[in-house]
Amino acid sequence: MNDEEIHLHFEELKKELEGKIDDALLKKELNTYLNEYRVTPEAAKRGIRRKYGADDSSSFMTADTLAKKIGELKGTEMNVDITAKAVYVDKKQITVRGNPKTIVSGILGDETGTAPFTIWEGENVELEKGAVYLFKNAYTKQWNERVQVNLGSRGKVEKAEGVRVDVPERTAAAESAEVKIADIREGMGDVTVTGRIISIEERNITVKGEPKTVRSGIIADDSGKIQFSAWNDYGLKEKETICVKNAYIRAWKGIPQLNLGDKCEVSRVDDSFGEIDIAVSKKTVADIIAAGGGLDLSVTGTVVDLRAGSGLIWRCPECNRSVLNGECTTHGRVEPITDLRMKLIIDDGTGAISAIVNRQDTEILTGVTLEAAEGLAKARGDSEIVAREMAELVVMRKMTVSGNVMSDDFGPMMIVSDARIEVIDVEAEAEALYNEVEAAL
Ligand SMILES: [Zn+2]
Repeated sequence: MNDEEIHLHFEELKKELEGKIDDALLKKELNTYLNEYRVTPEAAKRGIRRKYGADDSSSFMTADTLAKKIGELKGTEMNVDITAKAVYVDKKQITVRGNPKTIVSGILGDETGTAPFTIWEGENVELEKGAVYLFKNAYTKQWNERVQVNLGSRGKVEKAEGVRVDVPERTAAAESAEVKIADIREGMGDVTVTGRIISIEERNITVKGEPKTVRSGIIADDSGKIQFSAWNDYGLKEKETICVKNAYIRAWKGIPQLNLGDKCEVSRVDDSFGEIDIAVSKKTVADIIAAGGGLDLSVTGTVVDLRAGSGLIWRCPECNRSVLNGECTTHGRVEPITDLRMKLIIDDGTGAISAIVNRQDTEILTGVTLEAAEGLAKARGDSEIVAREMAELVVMRKMTVSGNVMSDDFGPMMIVSDARIEVIDVEAEAEALYNEVEAAL
């Protein structure tokens, strides 16, 4: 790629990543992706954006913010102001990259419609149900034909004093829609699902001081599988096939879950699924981003980067979190345990996903054992060398990874349970490419 082209991409990223990366480093990163990794400019930009923490959504950043009604939102807004009523509010703690984080989520409504929202910096945000708020500099995303309003670190929420917003009552409560399990997305309303119970177990929990028994497990149809929780006793049993009406969807770390609540009706139906394949399902990164996450997914793509925190790491013996200089943020000075890990960025052409690879798979993929890594670090007096050696071995390799995918503020992340390097048949690829070129002439 020539300098002029690189410069264009440089200018674009510079605008988006203002204050997050300096010019020299950005230039170096671009050069590495484009000329060393030889990825497409789009993949390079995605990789750099992800690494330096830009919102994916900022790629078409516009200078001006626009005010819109909920019904006008398209799910592609980068910078939008919305004045709406907080119809439903929920504040909770989630874990993002191993750190606790408080988010505020719920449903916003105005005269034109409703939309789920998430405030990602929710620590000091207190929203009152039924009050009207101005969401400033919000961005939106579309998940299964439903627009989702997000407020990131650039956004702000303030009470809209004296503003009246009427949210129309939904007349004739929308008929619960029949959906396939693979099509279930966070933010969907009531759904009707038919599936076979693959597994079920009882858990005793405490809800508002009262002991309660929850039955949860996995339910599957011929399109996929999902975790479910039944909040009442429907007498569910493994292997039976049920039709669930008016179930609701909640996502846990981006993984949608089916909830059988008070409104729910359960009936036994004849099983017409035959053999259900509950093994890993193959997805593109774009599919995963759209769904927000899922269980036992598999992606094949090119490793475009090995993120910081890869290679030889140290963990607290108490809480297993990684520690720096023998100091755990919770447990103070500890005698750390060494471990190996890779944090890969895998790009399949439709998008990029982070993938966390544990010691066992790291050893298999790289051939570098923990003992060898420790030996190497000791011999060179440099622990970073392990990650550099691993980068040499895996970056630009084509790989298939499988595992559960969770999502947070930074996008989807797979906890890899199985990984393998795809052997590329260079000759066959060259021939295919040649045929394509010839056909185009
Ligand atoms: Zn600890």
